[in-house]
Amino acid sequence: MESKVHQQQEERENMVPLDGPFTFACNPSVPCFKECCRDLDLILTPYDILRLRQNLGLSSDAFVEKYVVWDFSHDMGFPTAKLKMSDDEKKLCPFLGEAGCEVYEDRPSACRIYPLARATQKHARFERTTDAYFLVRESHCRGFEQGKEWTIEEWIKDQGLEIYFDMNDLWTAVVCSPFKEKRGKLSDRDLKAVLMAAYNLEMFKQFVFKSSLLDRIELDSERVDKMKRDEAELLKFGFDWLRFALFGESTIKLSN
Ligand code: SF4
Ligand code: SF4
Repeated sequence: MESKVHQQQEERENMVPLDGPFTFACNPSVPCFKECCRDLDLILTPYDILRLRQNLGLSSDAFVEKYVVWDFSHDMGFPTAKLKMSDDEKKLCPFLGEAGCEVYEDRPSACRIYPLARATQKHARFERTTDAYFLVRESHCRGFEQGKEWTIEEWIKDQGLEIYFDMNDLWTAVVCSPFKEKRGKLSDRDLKAVLMAAYNLEMFKQFVFKSSLLDRIELDSERVDKMKRDEAELLKFGFDWLRFALFGESTIKLSN
């Protein structure tokens, strides 16, 4: 589920299913402005990290070193990246500045979607997806007291969430592969593959273009060109490669 988690317990208690419009505003005129950007349990998806490090002009290694805390509590041992808050008493988000969010254009999915939360359900081996939305009413958030009325679709568009949903759903297809029950925890080798393909695109690019991989698989040249130019395309291929390498899914075809 995607949401900006302030207090997980509080969130669960205040989450109500949403099937119609809601009223909300978040801008410098709300009395609570910036109050929520602290002490967060904020998951960074691989696409969140790509956008943030591009915004900051950082390599994957430098970004992870400075901003990521790893959580390995996933049942298969998949690494979950979380944003490292400042280590002082206030535990502020490292991207919070005087005027607000300093990475606003590339803020993480969880920050974009608030005050909504989205749950997706895959059907028939991922051929169909259904979304369910919830309104997360946190007591300290005054954004519900004013602002305009939004439909869910309007909010998604306004917050630039479409590309985040698309990319995050592809990542979910890796982490929640229907074949995951058949295998146990990730080995050290698997873990290295995940950390490379999902979280270190410079290293993954070397692997894809400097090894014999492309000679051994079928991939159309247009896609290969896009992967060279666009890190999001390379990340998408990384997700396909992980599903193939970890679970034997047919997301990649071997050459004859
Ligand atoms: S990334 Fe921006 S919006 Fe998200 S918690 Fe940090 S400062 Fe707030
Ligand atoms: S309105 Fe809600 S989301 Fe916006 S700053 Fe206030 S607490 Fe945060």
